[in-house]
Amino acid sequence: MVELEHARDLLENMGLKTAAELLDAQLERSLKAEETYIAFLLELLTVEETERKRRGEEMRIKLSRLPHRKTLGEFDFDFQPSIDKRQIDELATLAFAARAENVIFLGPPGVGKTHLAVGLAMQALKSGLTVYYTNLSQLITDMKKAQELNRLERRWRVYLKPDILIIDEVGYLQLDRKEAQLLFRLVCERYEQGSIILTSNKYFSDWGELMSDSVIATAMLDRLLHHAHVINIRGDTYRLKNRRKSGVILTPPADIPALK
Ligand code: ADP
Ligand code: MG
Repeated sequence: MVELEHARDLLENMGLKTAAELLDAQLERSLKAEETYIAFLLELLTVEETERKRRGEEMRIKLSRLPHRKTLGEFDFDFQPSIDKRQIDELATLAFAARAENVIFLGPPGVGKTHLAVGLAMQALKSGLTVYYTNLSQLITDMKKAQELNRLERRWRVYLKPDILIIDEVGYLQLDRKEAQLLFRLVCERYEQGSIILTSNKYFSDWGELMSDSVIATAMLDRLLHHAHVINIRGDTYRLKNRRKSGVILTPPADIPALK
């Protein structure tokens, strides 16, 4: 049918690729069901829109560089009773991101800080927001490299543009003053502009030492915590869950700083 081919070409040319692909099948289905014209049109446009949304989400997930795709639904809240599930549910509405507020997960290794950060990110990506994931060590390495190549200003956009920036694993790497200043500048520039989700195994009182400068640490925390949701997880590591169950109880090595 010449008309059918023409219609398919027009859809293609206008960028409605999925509708073009599914035109035959949708038409056949619609004829069989004796649908109205408007119902046919609506179905065709809906499949196009659904596919577009899916592709957009997939692209945003890739660009976010998340380490995995774990969701909040996969988080076992019963295992971690120190977390108030209502608080996480409230964060999952993403009102925090609309208000450019920060979320800070504190706690020892293995309690689910990264999982929860990624879970919130997945929720945000689904709703159309943009996210970028990094950990403190990667962030500092990347910024210093850009600085050496005189590309810091351009690189900076990667960290300023996304609606949510995740900075994972703050506390493992001790920063020198110059590095702390880079982080401080980032925190200042995102302040009240875009959310940061940060995870740390250290208490805020340790940040002076972590940043090798208590003045910078205080100024940084002042901005980070001004509009922030702090979730302090005081529980067992999930990584040892099964080993605990089977009766092999391990004590964490002494060099892993536990939160008091
Ligand atoms: P952290 O970042 O605090 O060190 P992770 O979020 O990386 O911990 O968690 C370690 C592993 O255990 C991950 O595979 C994570 O998905 C899983 N995990 C941690 N807590 C839970 C939980 N309460 N329910 C389900 N999985 C969990
Ligand atoms: Mg982690």
